Amino acid sequence: MGLLNLASSASQWRGYDYYKAGKVKSYHKTDDDKYEGQVNGSDGACYQVKIDLAHPRSSQCNCPHAAGKRIVCKHMVALYFHIFPKEAENFYREVIEAAEKAEEEQEQLEFAVIDYVEKMNKVELQQAFLQMLFEGPDWQFERFVRYNLREYDGLFE
Ligand SMILES: [Zn+2]
Repeated sequence: MGLLNLASSASQWRGYDYYKAGKVKSYHKTDDDKYEGQVNGSDGACYQVKIDLAHPRSSQCNCPHAAGKRIVCKHMVALYFHIFPKEAENFYREVIEAAEKAEEEQEQLEFAVIDYVEKMNKVELQQAFLQMLFEGPDWQFERFVRYNLREYDGLFE
């Protein structure tokens, strides 16, 4: 698995932000697939980051989150994106595309629900409506009573 895939989605995003904010101060290639760099932290600290693309779990960072552990932190991701800007663009585009797809699916679902409701007859609508009133949240039931059955309004004081 690649370095990016080993990072949590939170670390991917934070790493992308760090990269965009220019927190990678410097880097150099130390070997085939190995890079070393300095990345600024959020607290003004500067971390020593080593990434190994052939063996991503061997990557190192001396931040509190990653020090001594075999995890991929946001500083490693930031360094990776800094060295490979095309990967940063791909990451961003994929995330945006996934969000757009989810939005599209949600919209389709809403249209399907509208379509379904428009085809329901009166009895079906009454049953569905009553079910929502009695099984839905209390505020919904109370609002219905307040608007339509004012003589019972006092029960909710
Ligand atoms: Zn780190």
